[in-house]
Amino acid sequence: MPIVPPDTQGVRATHDPAGMQFPERARDALAELQRAAAPVLALLAPQRCGACGIEGALLCAECSDELGLTGDGRVERGAAPLGCDAGAWIGPYEGGLGELVRTLKFHSVPALSEPLGLGLQRAIRAVQQEIGGHATLVPIPTDPARLRDRGFDHAALIASAAARTLPYAFAPLLERTRAVPALHALGRAERRRVMDRVFAVRAGEALPERVILIDDIWTSGATFEAAAATLRAAGCTSIGVVAVAREALAHGA
Ligand SMILES: [Zn+2]
Repeated sequence: MPIVPPDTQGVRATHDPAGMQFPERARDALAELQRAAAPVLALLAPQRCGACGIEGALLCAECSDELGLTGDGRVERGAAPLGCDAGAWIGPYEGGLGELVRTLKFHSVPALSEPLGLGLQRAIRAVQQEIGGHATLVPIPTDPARLRDRGFDHAALIASAAARTLPYAFAPLLERTRAVPALHALGRAERRRVMDRVFAVRAGEALPERVILIDDIWTSGATFEAAAATLRAAGCTSIGVVAVAREALAHGA
């Protein structure tokens, strides 16, 4: 058998149909590795404020004050979504607060759930007072596909961080029954239709009487409404909702 010089092997490999698939496989593997390594890389990189980008901490003292996250946080109140008894949030989904939520979710900085959860304390207490008695904090479950991409469930992390400092239980009682498209482009009626029966109570979970649903962003309220309808049908009597940030809708908020 003739000995094939290395350079010839290289040329032959590029013309091999099986070899042609290699770059694609390598790209997929690299993307997978980058996704898996993102949380580790985030730990190794110098900490930057998730809101303003200044180096030194995940959330600088100035942004924490300005965005209402210092101490037990700031609270804004408004009409509860349909089927819910009370609602509150920290501030508008814009500027630094919006940036923090996006950094947590899209730049893989799960540690930001800690200051956001702590900043929810006041809002949670305000809602709890209105619905009466102790409540269980229930996160809105993330879509399974997004959970796989991200590697963590941001609302669950935020709710569990809040529960550690409050005398309330944390219980991820809900799960998604199917994937849904992004709601941004949909009108109010369409959001309701898409979200109908999208949640279910996890099998074997005992339901508390009072529940406070926790999510990062409150947009139209369609997600909270769907979760509340599921919980109420299963026997919950009082349901409050708390979000980190409230988005102003151009149409039909
Ligand atoms: Zn900052």
